Amino acid sequence: MLNYQEIDVPFQYRHCCWFCGEPSNDAVDFPKVNSAYLAHVPLTLPACKECKVLSQSCVTDSIWDLQLEVNHGLMKRYAKHLGIGVNWTQQELEQTCLEGTSFKGFTDSAWMMYEIAKGRVDFSGWSLAINGVPLDIIDESCGFEFAGSRFIDFEAAVAFYQRSESLNKYLLEGLVAILGQSQLAYALRIARLHPSITKRSADSVLSEIAQQQQDTKAMINAEVILTPLTSVTLDDVLPVTIDKQQATAESILWAMHRGIQNLAQLQQCEDAFFEQYEHLGGVVAFQLYHGLQLYLEARSNPNWCESHDPNHQLWPK
Ligand SMILES: [Zn+2]
Repeated sequence: MLNYQEIDVPFQYRHCCWFCGEPSNDAVDFPKVNSAYLAHVPLTLPACKECKVLSQSCVTDSIWDLQLEVNHGLMKRYAKHLGIGVNWTQQELEQTCLEGTSFKGFTDSAWMMYEIAKGRVDFSGWSLAINGVPLDIIDESCGFEFAGSRFIDFEAAVAFYQRSESLNKYLLEGLVAILGQSQLAYALRIARLHPSITKRSADSVLSEIAQQQQDTKAMINAEVILTPLTSVTLDDVLPVTIDKQQATAESILWAMHRGIQNLAQLQQCEDAFFEQYEHLGGVVAFQLYHGLQLYLEARSNPNWCESHDPNHQLWPK
């Protein structure tokens, strides 16, 4: 039995779980067994029953690893509840309430469940101290951070989004394999557009994305320097519709001002595009992006440019 010492609990957190902020009626002793690597006294942390159980399957020398593991356990368990906040806004849920009263019970409790789960996974404890002396325990845990959440690792983040939003597993995993960690946001955006896709269609989406990636790499290797067309204004540009998708004048101008002239260059600046248009909502922003993609793709054909592009004279020869 180690000589555990109870951590200080600030007044506003009395009776709270250190891991999730819920009412605590139990405690976690850390570490379970003595460790030569421990740089502080063994700790007793107030915890709720659920976090205590989650903590028991984790063997580590680091309190920060333990915190991450417990958080991961909660995220995994409440993925469906957390997904509500990703798929719906409270306003949308309230509108559903007005339209059909039979929904009311579901939507009220659904949002409440989301808020509770979100509050728990976002809670990150309070600073550790014993008898007023702070414990400066260096956080060496290496999680994967994405969209304001911290995951145990990249795979855990992918699994979380797949589960919480019921995304197509085959498609999402394929996208992640092609796009890698740095482009998880892009992979999710594409996966969200195809929640129930056949394997065959998923394969064609994947091969298209793989091709885009290759083009981007080729372009980076060639070190093309983008030359912005700064003199063009919105009055000069006309929208272009291809396959019923419109490349708006604003989005075409956006590309011109950045010197983006082809698909590969657009892909390289994709994050900047979505930052610019994210206030319009994911679906609208994606439609704008897709319209611009089709336009730049069409522009790779010189004959099309000559005969169909109303903006042809604006682009460099
Ligand atoms: Zn807890």
